Amino acid sequence: MSAHVKLEKITRKYDGIMALRGISLDVKSGEILTIIGPNGAGKTTLLRILALLDKPSSGKLIYQGQSVDSSNTPFLRKKITMVFQRPILLNDTVFENVAYGLKLRGLTEDEIADRVEAALDSVMLKNFAHRMAKKLSGGEQQRVVLARALVLNPELLLLDEPTANLDPTSATIVEKIIRQLRGRSTVVVATHNIFQAKRLSDRVGCILNGMIIDVDKPKNIFTKPRNEIIRKFVRGEFF
Ligand code: ATP
Repeated sequence: MSAHVKLEKITRKYDGIMALRGISLDVKSGEILTIIGPNGAGKTTLLRILALLDKPSSGKLIYQGQSVDSSNTPFLRKKITMVFQRPILLNDTVFENVAYGLKLRGLTEDEIADRVEAALDSVMLKNFAHRMAKKLSGGEQQRVVLARALVLNPELLLLDEPTANLDPTSATIVEKIIRQLRGRSTVVVATHNIFQAKRLSDRVGCILNGMIIDVDKPKNIFTKPRNEIIRKFVRGEFF
């Protein structure tokens, strides 16, 4: 599998805090890569850099073979969608929330209607189109947010803790939707849920103190940890 995005020695410093300390990582095309790590490890920072929403303090980012710089960032950003840990919904219907990005892209009303219907269908919210999004339950809102991302058919989808605060049923639905994207989009999921990483991933990257300490197939990470740090990590001793 070719690299969709290549990170070379990426660092990110915030007012003296080193959030990322030299991350080199290939995100392969079409894979589901899970980034697991405890609170404050640097997962969100890494996702924001992959989404081209934040610039590294040093290091290089290569997107499908192109070195990322300020001249191509606006164009490349359109291929990427990030779903935030605490997403904000418009004070409008579910339909309008999901349609919003398509309207900005200038699609026709018919195209928008078809794509929104398909996206709502995929998150099992077909009959919710005319409900006010902010009045839905937390789990339903999370699925609206996912539909809003899916409707754009992003090449690269970045999900920050997509099932945090969801009950097991809603979490299962969301995980199923993510798995269905395998091979169609490249997906990076940040989570501190080790079990979710086992269920979802083609590969798992373990992040600790702003460093990727291992990246491998879940089977290798969880059943054949390379060293004592990874063993402790997958036992949750750093969480
Ligand atoms: P969590 O699981 O709690 O969401 P995380 O792994 O996503 O954590 P980050 O949010 O990437 O971690 O934060 C990494 C480090 O960088 C933390 O120490 C955090 O306090 C710091 N940090 C993140 N964003 C900023 C910011 N805008 N300004 C200053 N420090 C920041």
